[in-house]
Amino acid sequence: MNNHVTVLEIDAKAIKHNLAFFKKQLQPTTKMMAVVKAFGYGSDSIEVAKIIKDDVAYFAVAYAAEGIALREAGIETPILVLHPQIANIDSIVKHRLEPNLYNFKILSAFLKYADEAPLMNYPIHIKFNTGLNRLGFWHNDIGNILVDLKKSNNVKVQSIFSHLAASNVAEEQDFTINQINNFAFIVKEMYKHLGYEPMIHILNTSGVVNYAQAQFDMVRVGIGLYGFGNNPEVTAQLKNTHTLKTIISQLHLIEQGETVGYNRAFVAKRPTKTATLPIGHADGISRKLGNEVGFVVINNQKAMIIGNVCMDMIMVDVTNIECKEGDEVIVFNHQQIVEYMAYKAETIPYEVLTGISQRVKRIVK
Ligand code: PLP
Repeated sequence: MNNHVTVLEIDAKAIKHNLAFFKKQLQPTTKMMAVVKAFGYGSDSIEVAKIIKDDVAYFAVAYAAEGIALREAGIETPILVLHPQIANIDSIVKHRLEPNLYNFKILSAFLKYADEAPLMNYPIHIKFNTGLNRLGFWHNDIGNILVDLKKSNNVKVQSIFSHLAASNVAEEQDFTINQINNFAFIVKEMYKHLGYEPMIHILNTSGVVNYAQAQFDMVRVGIGLYGFGNNPEVTAQLKNTHTLKTIISQLHLIEQGETVGYNRAFVAKRPTKTATLPIGHADGISRKLGNEVGFVVINNQKAMIIGNVCMDMIMVDVTNIECKEGDEVIVFNHQQIVEYMAYKAETIPYEVLTGISQRVKRIVK
């Protein structure tokens, strides 16, 4: 019995379509790493991984626990942990996850662990900072990294990578090309002294769209899988993957001058029919969408959110909409609605998708 009326439907076919779209952009030798962190951008990382595991070379997650969940669900594909901590090393190795080693502290800790275990040729990934200034070694760390790595045959560098700061921003093209060139330079030096040539990768979704020349050995596609190409022409060729639905719990007829919701923020200018829906800010609906900024769709018509968004509910104006209690409500079922919600909430589609809380039941179709 399904007790959930507020559900996030994930379209498996759409995810496969989007993956195929991005794979088609790749050189024959370029591999695909599917980024499934943050519950697969709010979807369901385990189900998404099951759907596409045979079509990708790698998965990427942010944290060790996310990779462990995939392994425990039987996913055997290589998994890169983008942001591991020293405290996670033992569980990373036990679950055959591959860590990004991004500074000397975690590199040394991992090498020590690998020596004591002992591990043989354990796959690790080295990240360089080329301008995002978030995680990663600096160019002038190369000498010391090589000193550490050359001492050990317990690990093998599986890949060297970096991350672009503004691959979706046309005005930052010079900066981005500079990042790519610096990365290529770093790789050259690493290759020269390492004695073998690990895979290299730098592109995310908008990188694949805008900087095809830098595909290298692998690309890391996240938001693209979930239907957003970071430009309207590409997004138009992608399919919607997330549909957020609920129902009408209760209808009310209120008089002109009556108010709706906390702080009496909505004042009816005319007799108004309102619908109360079981979804609120604790489910991921931004409070910025209250007070006639955001809307839902009921029986193919827009119903504006009135009053403040509550924790577990929103109220919408259905004065001109034929509807009854129990009717289906679409919160979003298209990338354009998500983009609108993001714009109005002063954020980006990434946050709208990942912000759908775990209280909302995921249904993969
Ligand atoms: N690579 C890294 C290191 C990331 O942090 C992310 C996501 O933030 C991605 C790739 C995927 O980016 P996108 O979702 O823009 O494709």
